[in-house]
Formats: sequence, structure tokens, C-alpha cells
Amino acid sequence: MNCPYCGYHDSKVVDSRDVNDGIRRRRQCLRCGSRFTTYERLQPASLFVIKKDERREEFDRNKLLTGIRKACEKRPLPTGAIEKLVDDIEAELYRLGKAEIPSALIGDMVIERLKRLDYIAYIRFASVYREFTDITALKQEIDTLVSSEAETPASTSQLPLLPSEELGRPVRRQGRVRRRK
Ligand SMILES: [Zn+2]
Repeated sequence: MNCPYCGYHDSKVVDSRDVNDGIRRRRQCLRCGSRFTTYERLQPASLFVIKKDERREEFDRNKLLTGIRKACEKRPLPTGAIEKLVDDIEAELYRLGKAEIPSALIGDMVIERLKRLDYIAYIRFASVYREFTDITALKQEIDTLVSSEAETPASTSQLPLLPSEELGRPVRRQGRVRRRK
């Protein structure tokens, strides 16, 4: 890793600690003395995504990140929230220990997390990936969100800004989703 300030190829490690599934290293450039941080993580065996048409494609973290960023465009989310969400999904995918994973499963994982993070981003993402077949299905989903919001006391309803440490915590599912016939 070259120094981001002067491009020099060598640095020394001044601090190193475990973070999540990797190691964070604080480095100091041996030429200009600037400090910078690197993250080292294990690259697990390749993971393939089974697409809807049965084709296989290697899992691409950046592609996932781009899709989620698009859904979250202009939403008031804390810095790093989207990366954290992708980190969580990636870690969970590798924990499954499978060589191939259906794209629909990944879509569901994103949808589930976006729903806890931001309703607008959730609806944007779900409308693409879950392919609400018609406007009625979409409206039904929005009605469900609106009514669950209305039933929740103001203090615990979804806030536009969540402290980032809460983002990774699994939230207990509450049985208040009602479907109207
Ligand atoms: Zn340097």
C-alpha cells in the first residue's frame, strides 16, 4: 500500500487492532511521515450468486453497494450507514458457508435491513427487486408501513438519523404487520 500523500511504497505499522472480521492498521509513511489507515480482511473463497435465469455470477460487493446507494440517494443517513449495511450482508453471506446463493435471498436481506434503516430507501429498493406487480401491491406495502408507524409511540418510531452503533444490532421483529383484505 503506497502512501496516499506522497506515494512512497513503504510504511511502518504504528497500531493494529481487530475490527469485526478484519484488522485495522495505522501506518506511518517512512518518507513523509504521514499517517494513514489500512484495513485487512480475509478474502473468502469465491461466492456465486444464482440469478433468476439460473446463470451464475461471482458475488460483487461493489455492485451491491451501488444498488443500495441508489436506493438511499438523498436520504438523511449517517455517514457509513450504507457501507455498514453491506458489510453486514457480506459477512452473513459468507457465514452461510455456501458456494452459491440465490440473488433473491440477497435481495431479501437488503430489503429487511433497509426497512429498519429508512422507509423511503426501502420502498425504492423493494419496488425494483421485489417487483411489486402492480400499484395495488405497492400501495398495500406503504399502507402497512404507515399504519405500523401510526401505532408506534413517537419516541420509538423510526428516526431519520439512527446512531450508527444501533444499525448493526438485530431488531426484534414486532408482530404488528397487518394485512387488510
Ligand atoms: Zn508519504
